[in-house]
Amino acid sequence: MTTALIIGGGIAGTVTAMALHKAGIDAVVHEAYPENAMDTGAFLVVAANGLEALRTIDAHQPVLDQSFAAGHVDFISDTGKRLGRKPMSGSQNGGIGSRTIRRATLVRALREEAVRRGVRIEYGKRLLAAHTSPDGTVVGSFADGGRAVADVLIGADGIHSLIRRTIDAASPRPRYTGQQTVCGYARDVPVAPDPDTYTMIFGKQAFFGCTTAPDGEIWWFTNAPAPELSPAELAAVTPAQWRERLTGLFAEDRTAAAGIIGATGEDIIATGAYDLVSTPTWSSDGMVIVGDAAHACAPNAAQGASLAIEDGVVLARCLRDLRRPRAAFAAYEGLRRERVEKVARSSAGMARRTAPGPVKRALRDATLPRRLDRAGQAAPDTDWLTGYRIDWDEPVDGRAAVHDRR
Ligand SMILES: Cc1cc2nc3c(=O)[nH]c(=O)nc-3n(C[C@H](O)[C@H](O)[C@H](O)COP(=O)(O)OP(=O)(O)OC[C@H]3O[C@@H](n4cnc5c(N)ncnc54)[C@H](O)[C@@H]3O)c2cc1C
Repeated sequence: MTTALIIGGGIAGTVTAMALHKAGIDAVVHEAYPENAMDTGAFLVVAANGLEALRTIDAHQPVLDQSFAAGHVDFISDTGKRLGRKPMSGSQNGGIGSRTIRRATLVRALREEAVRRGVRIEYGKRLLAAHTSPDGTVVGSFADGGRAVADVLIGADGIHSLIRRTIDAASPRPRYTGQQTVCGYARDVPVAPDPDTYTMIFGKQAFFGCTTAPDGEIWWFTNAPAPELSPAELAAVTPAQWRERLTGLFAEDRTAAAGIIGATGEDIIATGAYDLVSTPTWSSDGMVIVGDAAHACAPNAAQGASLAIEDGVVLARCLRDLRRPRAAFAAYEGLRRERVEKVARSSAGMARRTAPGPVKRALRDATLPRRLDRAGQAAPDTDWLTGYRIDWDEPVDGRAAVHDRR
Protein backbone atom coordinates (compact mmCIF):
# COMPACT_ATOMS: atom_id res chain seq x y z
CA MET A 1 0.00 0.00 0.00
CA THR A 2 1.73 3.13 -1.14
CA THR A 3 -0.80 5.67 -2.39
CA ALA A 4 -3.84 7.34 -0.86
CA LEU A 5 -6.53 9.51 -2.39
CA ILE A 6 -7.90 11.91 0.21
CA ILE A 7 -11.26 13.56 -0.42
CA GLY A 8 -11.57 16.88 1.43
CA GLY A 9 -8.89 19.45 2.19
CA GLY A 10 -10.23 20.55 5.59
CA ILE A 11 -8.73 19.71 8.96
CA ALA A 12 -8.99 15.91 8.77
CA GLY A 13 -7.82 15.71 5.15
CA THR A 14 -4.71 17.86 5.51
CA VAL A 15 -3.63 16.26 8.79
CA THR A 16 -4.16 12.74 7.43
CA ALA A 17 -2.07 13.65 4.38
CA MET A 18 0.78 14.97 6.53
CA ALA A 19 0.68 11.94 8.82
CA LEU A 20 0.68 9.55 5.84
CA HIS A 21 3.58 11.48 4.35
CA LYS A 22 5.50 10.97 7.60
CA ALA A 23 4.60 7.27 7.40
CA GLY A 24 6.04 7.04 3.88
CA ILE A 25 2.71 6.84 2.09
CA ASP A 26 1.98 9.20 -0.82
CA ALA A 27 -1.28 11.06 -0.46
CA VAL A 28 -2.97 13.55 -2.77
CA VAL A 29 -5.72 15.74 -1.31
CA HIS A 30 -8.71 16.62 -3.50
CA GLU A 31 -10.68 19.63 -2.27
CA ALA A 32 -14.01 20.64 -3.80
CA TYR A 33 -13.55 24.41 -3.46
CA PRO A 34 -10.94 26.70 -5.03
CA GLU A 35 -7.93 27.48 -2.87
CA ASN A 36 -9.02 31.01 -2.00
CA ALA A 37 -12.66 30.13 -1.22
CA MET A 38 -12.30 30.09 2.53
CA ASP A 39 -15.44 29.75 4.61
CA THR A 40 -17.46 31.64 7.11
CA GLY A 41 -14.95 33.14 9.50
CA ALA A 42 -16.15 31.35 12.63
CA PHE A 43 -13.59 30.52 15.29
CA LEU A 44 -12.93 27.40 17.30
CA VAL A 45 -10.84 25.94 20.07
CA VAL A 46 -8.17 23.41 19.24
CA ALA A 47 -7.97 21.51 22.50
CA ALA A 48 -4.76 20.21 24.04
CA ASN A 49 -5.44 16.70 22.76
CA GLY A 50 -5.70 18.00 19.18
CA LEU A 51 -2.52 20.05 19.45
CA GLU A 52 -0.64 17.18 21.05
CA ALA A 53 -1.79 14.95 18.19
CA LEU A 54 -0.41 17.54 15.75
CA ARG A 55 2.82 17.57 17.74
CA THR A 56 3.30 13.83 17.10
CA ILE A 57 3.78 14.69 13.42
CA ASP A 58 5.58 17.94 14.26
CA ALA A 59 2.83 20.08 12.72
CA HIS A 60 1.73 22.01 15.81
CA GLN A 61 3.98 25.07 15.43
CA PRO A 62 2.13 26.82 12.58
CA VAL A 63 -1.08 26.47 14.58
CA LEU A 64 0.54 27.81 17.75
CA ASP A 65 1.95 30.74 15.77
CA GLN A 66 -1.47 31.79 14.48
CA SER A 67 -3.62 31.17 17.55
CA PHE A 68 -3.83 32.40 21.12
CA ALA A 69 -4.02 30.60 24.42
CA ALA A 70 -7.28 29.38 25.92
CA GLY A 71 -6.14 28.68 29.45
CA HIS A 72 -9.20 28.86 31.68
CA VAL A 73 -12.96 28.98 31.69
CA ASP A 74 -14.92 31.16 34.11
CA PHE A 75 -18.52 30.07 34.61
CA ILE A 76 -21.03 32.84 35.28
CA SER A 77 -24.74 32.60 36.14
CA ASP A 78 -27.48 34.73 34.60
CA THR A 79 -27.24 36.99 37.66
CA GLY A 80 -23.56 37.63 36.97
CA LYS A 81 -22.41 35.45 39.87
CA ARG A 82 -19.10 33.65 39.33
CA LEU A 83 -19.79 29.94 39.71
CA GLY A 84 -16.34 28.48 39.22
CA ARG A 85 -13.17 28.40 37.19
CA LYS A 86 -11.58 25.51 35.36
CA PRO A 87 -8.45 25.02 33.29
CA MET A 88 -9.28 24.27 29.66
CA SER A 89 -6.75 21.48 29.47
CA GLY A 90 -3.53 20.05 30.73
CA SER A 91 -1.32 23.06 29.99
CA GLN A 92 -0.71 23.25 33.72
CA ASN A 93 1.02 19.90 33.41
CA GLY A 94 3.61 21.17 30.97
CA GLY A 95 1.62 20.42 27.80
CA ILE A 96 0.81 22.81 25.00
CA GLY A 97 -2.66 23.68 26.28
CA SER A 98 -5.70 24.68 24.23
CA ARG A 99 -5.74 27.49 21.65
CA THR A 100 -8.30 29.70 19.97
CA ILE A 101 -8.08 30.25 16.21
CA ARG A 102 -10.35 31.16 13.31
CA ARG A 103 -11.35 28.02 11.47
CA ALA A 104 -10.20 29.43 8.12
CA THR A 105 -6.82 30.35 9.63
CA LEU A 106 -6.42 26.84 11.00
CA VAL A 107 -7.22 25.21 7.67
CA ARG A 108 -4.91 27.59 5.81
CA ALA A 109 -2.05 26.93 8.26
CA LEU A 110 -2.46 23.17 7.92
CA ARG A 111 -2.64 23.33 4.13
CA GLU A 112 0.48 25.49 3.92
CA GLU A 113 2.36 23.15 6.21
CA ALA A 114 1.23 20.11 4.19
CA VAL A 115 2.38 21.71 0.93
CA ARG A 116 5.69 22.72 2.52
CA ARG A 117 6.25 19.03 3.24
CA GLY A 118 5.56 18.03 -0.33
CA VAL A 119 1.88 17.01 -0.07
CA ARG A 120 -0.11 17.76 -3.23
CA ILE A 121 -3.47 19.50 -2.75
CA GLU A 122 -5.69 19.80 -5.79
CA TYR A 123 -8.41 22.46 -5.58
CA GLY A 124 -11.69 22.67 -7.45
CA LYS A 125 -11.92 18.87 -7.35
CA ARG A 126 -15.41 17.90 -6.23
CA LEU A 127 -15.78 14.15 -5.98
CA LEU A 128 -18.96 12.85 -7.57
CA ALA A 129 -18.49 9.10 -7.20
CA ALA A 130 -15.99 6.48 -6.03
CA HIS A 131 -15.69 2.73 -6.42
CA THR A 132 -13.31 -0.10 -5.75
CA SER A 133 -12.00 -1.87 -8.88
CA PRO A 134 -11.70 -5.65 -9.16
CA ASP A 135 -7.91 -5.27 -8.78
CA GLY A 136 -8.48 -3.64 -5.37
CA THR A 137 -7.55 -0.09 -6.30
CA VAL A 138 -10.01 2.74 -5.66
CA VAL A 139 -11.16 5.18 -8.31
CA GLY A 140 -12.58 8.64 -7.73
CA SER A 141 -14.50 10.59 -10.40
CA PHE A 142 -14.69 14.35 -10.18
CA ALA A 143 -17.12 17.03 -11.34
CA ASP A 144 -14.50 18.44 -13.74
CA GLY A 145 -14.41 15.12 -15.59
CA GLY A 146 -11.12 14.00 -14.02
CA ARG A 147 -10.41 10.64 -12.39
CA ALA A 148 -7.87 9.56 -9.80
CA VAL A 149 -6.74 6.08 -8.79
CA ALA A 150 -4.98 4.98 -5.60
CA ASP A 151 -4.56 2.03 -3.25
CA VAL A 152 -6.91 3.53 -0.67
CA LEU A 153 -9.47 6.34 -0.59
CA ILE A 154 -9.90 8.36 2.60
CA GLY A 155 -13.13 10.29 3.00
CA ALA A 156 -12.33 13.48 4.91
CA ASP A 157 -15.29 15.20 3.30
CA GLY A 158 -17.06 16.52 6.36
CA ILE A 159 -20.39 15.98 8.05
CA HIS A 160 -22.35 15.60 4.78
CA SER A 161 -19.83 13.04 3.50
CA LEU A 162 -20.40 11.40 0.15
CA ILE A 163 -17.86 8.72 1.03
CA ARG A 164 -19.83 7.76 4.16
CA ARG A 165 -22.86 7.15 1.92
CA THR A 166 -20.72 5.35 -0.67
CA ILE A 167 -19.43 2.96 1.99
CA ASP A 168 -22.91 2.42 3.40
CA ALA A 169 -25.93 3.83 1.59
CA ALA A 170 -27.96 3.33 4.78
CA SER A 171 -25.56 5.36 6.94
CA PRO A 172 -27.30 7.80 9.26
CA ARG A 173 -27.80 11.43 8.32
CA PRO A 174 -26.55 14.27 10.53
CA ARG A 175 -29.00 15.20 13.29
CA TYR A 176 -30.04 18.76 14.08
CA THR A 177 -29.28 19.31 17.76
CA GLY A 178 -32.01 21.92 18.20
CA GLN A 179 -29.65 24.82 18.64
CA GLN A 180 -28.18 27.60 16.56
CA THR A 181 -24.60 28.66 17.12
CA VAL A 182 -23.92 32.29 16.31
CA CYS A 183 -20.51 33.87 16.65
CA GLY A 184 -19.17 37.36 16.25
CA TYR A 185 -16.32 39.76 16.81
CA ALA A 186 -16.69 43.00 18.79
CA ARG A 187 -14.42 45.94 19.59
CA ASP A 188 -14.50 48.67 22.21
CA VAL A 189 -16.42 46.64 24.74
CA PRO A 190 -16.31 48.05 28.27
CA VAL A 191 -15.98 44.71 30.10
CA ALA A 192 -13.58 42.41 28.27
CA PRO A 193 -12.70 38.97 29.64
CA ASP A 194 -9.08 38.35 30.60
CA PRO A 195 -6.93 37.20 27.70
CA ASP A 196 -6.36 33.48 27.99
CA THR A 197 -9.81 33.00 29.55
CA TYR A 198 -13.25 32.04 28.26
CA THR A 199 -16.20 33.58 30.06
CA MET A 200 -19.12 31.16 29.80
CA ILE A 201 -22.49 32.53 30.82
CA PHE A 202 -25.52 30.36 31.60
CA GLY A 203 -28.15 32.90 30.54
CA LYS A 204 -31.82 32.37 31.31
CA GLN A 205 -32.63 31.73 27.66
CA ALA A 206 -29.31 30.86 26.01
CA PHE A 207 -25.64 30.16 26.55
CA PHE A 208 -22.96 32.77 25.82
CA GLY A 209 -19.17 32.41 25.63
CA CYS A 210 -16.42 34.89 24.85
CA THR A 211 -12.70 35.46 25.00
CA THR A 212 -10.34 38.35 24.21
CA ALA A 213 -7.91 38.11 21.28
CA PRO A 214 -4.40 39.56 21.66
CA ASP A 215 -5.45 42.72 19.72
CA GLY A 216 -8.28 43.38 22.17
CA GLU A 217 -11.10 42.15 19.94
CA ILE A 218 -13.78 40.11 21.74
CA TRP A 219 -14.57 36.79 20.06
CA TRP A 220 -17.99 35.56 21.20
CA PHE A 221 -20.52 32.83 20.49
CA THR A 222 -24.01 31.91 21.58
CA ASN A 223 -25.78 28.58 21.67
CA ALA A 224 -29.52 29.07 21.67
CA PRO A 225 -32.45 26.72 21.16
CA ALA A 226 -34.01 27.40 17.76
CA PRO A 227 -35.92 25.66 14.97
CA GLU A 228 -33.84 24.27 12.12
CA LEU A 229 -33.15 26.72 9.27
CA SER A 230 -31.52 25.93 5.93
CA PRO A 231 -28.12 27.54 5.19
CA ALA A 232 -29.91 29.92 2.79
CA GLU A 233 -32.42 30.91 5.48
CA LEU A 234 -29.60 31.49 7.98
CA ALA A 235 -27.67 33.58 5.47
CA ALA A 236 -30.74 35.70 4.82
CA VAL A 237 -30.79 36.97 8.42
CA THR A 238 -28.90 40.27 8.56
CA PRO A 239 -26.32 41.13 11.26
CA ALA A 240 -28.74 43.76 12.61
CA GLN A 241 -31.46 41.14 12.95
CA TRP A 242 -29.07 38.76 14.74
CA ARG A 243 -28.04 41.55 17.10
CA GLU A 244 -31.62 42.33 17.92
CA ARG A 245 -32.62 38.68 18.35
CA LEU A 246 -29.62 37.77 20.51
CA THR A 247 -29.54 40.87 22.69
CA GLY A 248 -33.21 40.09 23.36
CA LEU A 249 -32.28 36.59 24.58
CA PHE A 250 -29.83 38.02 27.12
CA ALA A 251 -31.71 41.22 27.99
CA GLU A 252 -33.08 39.98 31.30
CA ASP A 253 -29.72 38.63 32.51
CA ARG A 254 -27.35 40.72 34.61
CA THR A 255 -24.27 39.82 32.55
CA ALA A 256 -22.05 41.38 29.88
CA ALA A 257 -23.52 39.24 27.07
CA ALA A 258 -26.12 41.64 25.65
CA GLY A 259 -23.64 44.56 25.70
CA ILE A 260 -20.99 42.60 23.81
CA ILE A 261 -23.45 41.41 21.18
CA GLY A 262 -24.83 44.94 20.85
CA ALA A 263 -21.31 46.30 20.25
CA THR A 264 -20.74 43.93 17.32
CA GLY A 265 -20.81 45.25 13.77
CA GLU A 266 -21.29 43.19 10.61
CA ASP A 267 -19.04 40.35 11.76
CA ILE A 268 -21.74 37.87 12.80
CA ILE A 269 -21.87 34.29 11.51
CA ALA A 270 -24.68 31.83 12.24
CA THR A 271 -24.96 28.12 11.74
CA GLY A 272 -27.26 25.30 12.76
CA ALA A 273 -25.58 22.78 15.04
CA TYR A 274 -25.62 19.18 13.86
CA ASP A 275 -24.09 16.00 15.11
CA LEU A 276 -23.56 12.39 14.12
CA VAL A 277 -22.91 10.35 17.19
CA SER A 278 -22.53 6.92 15.67
CA THR A 279 -21.93 5.76 12.11
CA PRO A 280 -22.18 1.95 12.06
CA THR A 281 -19.82 1.37 9.13
CA TRP A 282 -16.56 3.30 8.77
CA SER A 283 -14.90 1.39 5.97
CA SER A 284 -15.35 -0.95 3.06
CA ASP A 285 -12.79 -2.44 0.70
CA GLY A 286 -10.28 0.30 0.07
CA MET A 287 -12.33 3.17 1.56
CA VAL A 288 -12.48 4.67 5.04
CA ILE A 289 -13.81 7.84 6.68
CA VAL A 290 -12.16 10.26 9.12
CA GLY A 291 -13.18 13.39 11.03
CA ASP A 292 -16.72 14.74 10.73
CA ALA A 293 -17.39 12.29 7.89
CA ALA A 294 -17.26 9.48 10.47
CA HIS A 295 -18.51 11.22 13.63
CA ALA A 296 -19.51 14.79 14.27
CA CYS A 297 -19.90 16.54 17.60
CA ALA A 298 -22.30 19.30 18.48
CA PRO A 299 -20.03 22.33 18.95
CA ASN A 300 -20.58 22.39 22.74
CA ALA A 301 -17.63 20.15 23.63
CA ALA A 302 -15.32 22.10 21.26
CA GLN A 303 -13.74 18.83 20.12
CA GLY A 304 -14.65 18.19 16.46
CA ALA A 305 -11.43 19.61 15.03
CA SER A 306 -9.28 17.92 17.67
CA LEU A 307 -10.89 14.53 17.04
CA ALA A 308 -10.40 15.00 13.30
CA ILE A 309 -6.70 15.62 13.91
CA GLU A 310 -6.42 12.56 16.16
CA ASP A 311 -8.17 10.41 13.53
CA GLY A 312 -5.69 11.39 10.82
CA VAL A 313 -2.66 10.59 12.95
CA VAL A 314 -4.06 7.26 14.19
CA LEU A 315 -5.15 6.14 10.71
CA ALA A 316 -1.68 6.88 9.33
CA ARG A 317 -0.06 4.79 12.08
CA CYS A 318 -2.39 1.90 11.26
CA LEU A 319 -1.65 2.07 7.52
CA ARG A 320 2.08 2.41 8.26
CA ASP A 321 2.23 -0.73 10.38
CA LEU A 322 -0.45 -3.01 8.97
CA ARG A 323 -0.21 -2.02 5.29
CA ARG A 324 -3.19 -4.10 4.16
CA PRO A 325 -6.12 -1.66 4.05
CA ARG A 326 -8.70 -3.98 5.58
CA ALA A 327 -6.51 -4.75 8.61
CA ALA A 328 -5.44 -1.13 8.97
CA PHE A 329 -9.01 0.19 8.80
CA ALA A 330 -10.18 -2.33 11.38
CA ALA A 331 -7.35 -1.36 13.74
CA TYR A 332 -8.09 2.33 13.21
CA GLU A 333 -11.74 1.80 14.06
CA GLY A 334 -10.76 -0.29 17.06
CA LEU A 335 -8.56 2.50 18.37
CA ARG A 336 -10.99 5.32 17.67
CA ARG A 337 -14.66 4.35 17.81
CA GLU A 338 -15.21 4.18 21.55
CA ARG A 339 -13.50 7.50 22.20
CA VAL A 340 -15.14 9.53 19.44
CA GLU A 341 -18.61 8.23 20.23
CA LYS A 342 -18.12 9.03 23.90
CA VAL A 343 -17.11 12.61 23.04
CA ALA A 344 -20.01 13.02 20.60
CA ARG A 345 -22.49 11.70 23.20
CA SER A 346 -21.10 14.02 25.81
CA SER A 347 -21.33 16.99 23.45
CA ALA A 348 -24.93 16.04 22.60
CA GLY A 349 -25.71 16.07 26.33
CA MET A 350 -24.27 19.57 26.61
CA ALA A 351 -26.32 20.69 23.61
CA ARG A 352 -29.50 19.43 25.30
CA ARG A 353 -28.63 21.47 28.36
CA THR A 354 -28.32 24.61 26.24
CA ALA A 355 -32.08 24.79 26.60
CA PRO A 356 -33.10 27.00 29.49
CA GLY A 357 -33.20 25.10 32.73
CA PRO A 358 -31.90 25.15 36.25
CA VAL A 359 -28.27 26.24 36.33
CA LYS A 360 -27.58 23.43 38.78
CA ARG A 361 -28.39 20.90 36.10
CA ALA A 362 -26.17 22.65 33.58
CA LEU A 363 -23.38 22.73 36.11
CA ARG A 364 -23.34 18.99 36.23
CA ASP A 365 -22.27 19.24 32.61
CA ALA A 366 -19.08 17.48 31.61
CA THR A 367 -17.40 20.80 30.82
CA LEU A 368 -17.22 21.48 34.52
CA PRO A 369 -14.51 20.16 36.78
CA ARG A 370 -15.46 17.26 38.96
CA ARG A 371 -13.69 18.80 41.93
CA LEU A 372 -13.61 22.48 42.74
CA ASP A 373 -11.67 23.65 45.75
CA ARG A 374 -12.98 26.33 48.07
CA ALA A 375 -11.76 29.12 45.81
CA GLY A 376 -13.62 27.55 42.92
CA GLN A 377 -10.36 26.38 41.33
CA ALA A 378 -10.24 23.02 39.64
CA ALA A 379 -7.50 20.45 39.82
CA PRO A 380 -5.28 20.41 36.69
CA ASP A 381 -7.02 18.63 33.89
CA THR A 382 -5.60 15.27 33.02
CA ASP A 383 -8.90 13.70 32.07
CA TRP A 384 -9.83 11.29 29.32
CA LEU A 385 -10.88 14.09 26.98
CA THR A 386 -8.04 16.62 26.73
CA GLY A 387 -5.42 14.38 28.33
CA TYR A 388 -5.56 11.87 25.44
CA ARG A 389 -2.16 11.33 23.82
CA ILE A 390 -0.97 9.38 20.77
CA ASP A 391 2.43 7.71 20.68
CA TRP A 392 3.54 7.95 17.04
CA ASP A 393 6.37 5.47 17.53
CA GLU A 394 4.33 2.77 19.20
CA PRO A 395 3.72 -0.02 16.66
CA VAL A 396 0.05 -0.72 15.95
CA ASP A 397 -0.95 -4.22 16.74
CA GLY A 398 -3.56 -5.77 14.44
CA ARG A 399 -5.32 -7.00 17.56
CA ALA A 400 -6.36 -3.40 18.23
CA ALA A 401 -9.16 -4.06 15.76
CA VAL A 402 -12.64 -4.36 17.12
CA HIS A 403 -14.80 -6.86 15.42
CA ASP A 404 -17.13 -5.95 12.79
CA ARG A 405 -20.17 -4.33 14.38
CA ARG A 406 -22.14 -4.46 11.16
C1 LIG B 1 -20.23 26.66 14.88
C2 LIG B 1 -19.21 25.58 15.04
C3 LIG B 1 -18.29 25.70 16.07
C4 LIG B 1 -17.32 24.72 16.23
N1 LIG B 1 -16.42 24.85 17.26
C5 LIG B 1 -15.45 23.93 17.40
C6 LIG B 1 -14.47 24.07 18.41
O1 LIG B 1 -14.44 25.05 19.19
N2 LIG B 1 -13.51 23.12 18.49
C7 LIG B 1 -13.49 22.06 17.65
O2 LIG B 1 -12.59 21.21 17.78
N3 LIG B 1 -14.41 21.89 16.68
C8 LIG B 1 -15.39 22.80 16.53
N4 LIG B 1 -16.30 22.65 15.54
C9 LIG B 1 -16.26 21.46 14.69
C10 LIG B 1 -15.19 21.51 13.61
O3 LIG B 1 -15.31 22.68 12.82
C11 LIG B 1 -15.30 20.25 12.76
O4 LIG B 1 -15.36 19.12 13.59
C12 LIG B 1 -14.11 20.12 11.82
O5 LIG B 1 -14.10 21.19 10.91
C13 LIG B 1 -14.14 18.78 11.10
O6 LIG B 1 -13.08 18.74 10.16
P1 LIG B 1 -13.20 17.82 8.86
O7 LIG B 1 -11.94 18.05 8.12
O8 LIG B 1 -13.59 16.46 9.26
O9 LIG B 1 -14.44 18.41 8.05
P2 LIG B 1 -14.58 19.82 7.35
O10 LIG B 1 -13.87 20.87 8.11
O11 LIG B 1 -16.04 20.00 7.10
O12 LIG B 1 -13.83 19.63 5.95
C14 LIG B 1 -14.37 18.85 4.91
C15 LIG B 1 -13.74 19.29 3.60
O13 LIG B 1 -14.16 18.41 2.57
C16 LIG B 1 -14.50 19.17 1.43
N5 LIG B 1 -15.47 18.36 0.64
C17 LIG B 1 -16.74 18.05 0.98
N6 LIG B 1 -17.31 17.30 0.03
C18 LIG B 1 -16.38 17.11 -0.94
C19 LIG B 1 -16.37 16.44 -2.20
N7 LIG B 1 -17.45 15.76 -2.65
N8 LIG B 1 -15.24 16.44 -2.95
C20 LIG B 1 -14.12 17.11 -2.50
N9 LIG B 1 -14.08 17.78 -1.32
C21 LIG B 1 -15.19 17.79 -0.55
C22 LIG B 1 -15.08 20.45 1.99
O14 LIG B 1 -15.07 21.51 1.06
C23 LIG B 1 -14.16 20.70 3.19
O15 LIG B 1 -13.02 21.45 2.84
C24 LIG B 1 -17.29 23.60 15.36
C25 LIG B 1 -18.23 23.48 14.32
C26 LIG B 1 -19.19 24.47 14.17
C27 LIG B 1 -20.20 24.33 13.06
